Amino acid sequence: MNIHEYQAKELLAKWGVPVPAGIAAFSVDEAVAAASQLPGPLYVVKAQIHAGGRGKGKFKELPPEAKGGVRLARSAEDVRAAAADMLGNTLVTVQTGEAGRQVNRLYVTDGVDIAKEFYLAFLVDRASGRVACVVSTEGGMDIETVAHDTPEKIHTLIVDPATGWRAHHGRSVAAALGLSGDLAKQASSVSEKLYAAFIGTDASQIEINPLAVTDDGQLLVLDAKVGFDPNALPRHPDLMQLRDLAEEDPAEVEASKHDLAFIKLDGNIGCLVNGAGLAMATMDIIKLNGAEPANFLDVGGGASKEKVTAAFKLILADPAVKGILVNIFGGIMRCDIIAEGIIAAAKEVNLGVPLVVRLEGTNVDLGKEILANSGLPIVSANDLGDAARKIVAEVKKVA
Ligand code: GDP
Ligand code: MG
Repeated sequence: MNIHEYQAKELLAKWGVPVPAGIAAFSVDEAVAAASQLPGPLYVVKAQIHAGGRGKGKFKELPPEAKGGVRLARSAEDVRAAAADMLGNTLVTVQTGEAGRQVNRLYVTDGVDIAKEFYLAFLVDRASGRVACVVSTEGGMDIETVAHDTPEKIHTLIVDPATGWRAHHGRSVAAALGLSGDLAKQASSVSEKLYAAFIGTDASQIEINPLAVTDDGQLLVLDAKVGFDPNALPRHPDLMQLRDLAEEDPAEVEASKHDLAFIKLDGNIGCLVNGAGLAMATMDIIKLNGAEPANFLDVGGGASKEKVTAAFKLILADPAVKGILVNIFGGIMRCDIIAEGIIAAAKEVNLGVPLVVRLEGTNVDLGKEILANSGLPIVSANDLGDAARKIVAEVKKVA
């Protein structure tokens, strides 16, 4: 689960991390009022969306020469104009995809004069199974580009969970940033606090870009992207409150209501499967047969009629779907009950695309018989390979 920049900064401030003063705003008037409570004379009006690259982004509704989603303002009028340009409009950045994201919230912050921009991030490194701290002097720009063009400018420290953050880690961060004296001390302190916040909130990512050195020699977090491990969220009810459903894919939000594990993909074959492993295998075999899955969907062990119906509705809500492959292994559930569920669901949603069903497990013969006698144009498959070949052939027919 990701959160907005303003939420991330408010959270990090509680862990002692230095951030500029700022106030969230949901309307143009609120933005102007927010600026009046900040010291000035420089303000920054920032579009709040769960995507980076806002500064260089473009608004769909504004002319191409208009400024992006991070604007410096020097007066109440500037703040008003920036807020009016952003609120309700669609910001497209390198991270949003072409569709962009509608801006519904702003963050008005105290503007600072920047001497240097660094990059500092904490994330879970799957290779080592530990928390990694990634540091670079090349802040303020896209870190993927830095990693591609000048990999030697990226330093990675792996933190041993048995020792936690130690003073030598802080010294390594400062050295990687080429800092000495007071700024080195600040770098050490900021990184130690960020690590504590990372562990304490069960974060999966804390990315600071830029970590700025101001003209008056302060190290400040100017942008923060924070995400949490969803498996740990039940331990943090306060963090769960920060979820913004408007930033999530509507289909995935709907799926989570029905306890379905669903991820939208770009292909045209909808998949309805029980078990994550089988769902992965189903996507693989669709690809092996030269087509692309439209989604990952695991209905779980007890695939009830209600869940299967909700799953069909989700899959069919995607206009790209030209056929559906149901692949269910009846272990806990009996195949005859699953077959009844599929038929009831297919009738309820008025299925208009080809449906291939592969059933295996307890009472499979009875299940297949029920499908065959349903009067619905369901193509039955004998095994996974057969199922994939059949759905790909069906979809090619309509395409
Ligand atoms: P992003 O584009 O989504 O990564 O948004 P950021 O919050 O990182 O802002 C983009 C850029 O705007 C930063 O890299 C800075 O160069 C600039 N910026 C952000 N805040 C300030 C500020 O307080 N003062 C100045 N001068 N520039 C800022
Ligand atoms: Mg940034």
